[in-house]
Amino acid sequence: MIVVTGGAGYIGSHVVRALRTEGADVLVVDDLRTGYRESIGDARLLEVELAAAVVDWSSVEAVYHFAASTSVEESVRRPDYYRQNCFEDPKNFLEPAIQAGVKIIFSSTAAVYGEPERIPIREDDAKHPVNPYGENKLALENFLLASGSPCTVLRYFNAAGGAEDHRPETHLIPLLISSEGLFSVFGNDYPTEDGTCIRDYVHIDDLARAHLSALRVDGVFNLGSGNGYSVLEILTLAGREPRFEPRRAGDPARLIADIGRAHEILNWQPELGVDAMIESAREWRARNPNGYRG
Ligand code: UDP
Repeated sequence: MIVVTGGAGYIGSHVVRALRTEGADVLVVDDLRTGYRESIGDARLLEVELAAAVVDWSSVEAVYHFAASTSVEESVRRPDYYRQNCFEDPKNFLEPAIQAGVKIIFSSTAAVYGEPERIPIREDDAKHPVNPYGENKLALENFLLASGSPCTVLRYFNAAGGAEDHRPETHLIPLLISSEGLFSVFGNDYPTEDGTCIRDYVHIDDLARAHLSALRVDGVFNLGSGNGYSVLEILTLAGREPRFEPRRAGDPARLIADIGRAHEILNWQPELGVDAMIESAREWRARNPNGYRG
């Protein structure tokens, strides 16, 4: 059996469906605080908070740990809440899995690097997170890597495309495809070519595929595309006009992954570009105008 915490969330649910397609026996652990029952297909659901979840680890081959809040901006406002749900609760939940020798695949983030010292960012580069989200993800990484259990850490850059339903939505691409009028761009005074932040966007289907390889290989891997797009470039691709606002707290200027290690060791590379992310996000919204709560 494979346990997936946060399996009803955005990235988790895409991985759950990919695992089910491969025929895996999947148990989702999710309190549905931000996830959706409808997103996990025919996988089993244990609907409980991570802090209260109990699993018989003797029958588990691997656990994917996704469950966490994911907003950089919210983490700046609510650092204690992020300490609890990005570090304390997962640590307590995973400790018995470690004792049982269960393989752990942990959803981490490019936010662990903070303002990077060089671009593209390699996995061993310095980590100085600039927000509580990144700090607590890094703390859990360090705990897991020091535990001696078989472990894979996946550091996501900006996942986009496909079925995505955050409430409230804060991410660039899903907001772009579901709003109208001038689009609020947070900051145009960053030290980048057009003054807006540069991010590395990776398609959710490519990302989900990497998780299947991660089952068989331990280590720490960046998962991005290796290409950077400014916020203004993404607006142009989506056909939207900007209205400039002040910077959002906690945003580094530029994040681009070096994905050489994932290519070499996970035998993974992304196949879909930013156009496909915008397109598949639009397609899903057109079919599901009210998201999962249609
Ligand atoms: N962004 C923006 N307007 C929005 C939402 C996001 O200008 O309404 C910018 C944000 O400041 C960042 C980039 O888009 O530079 C990507 O933000 P997102 O929240 O999608 O992902 P993050 O990089 O925070 O994980």
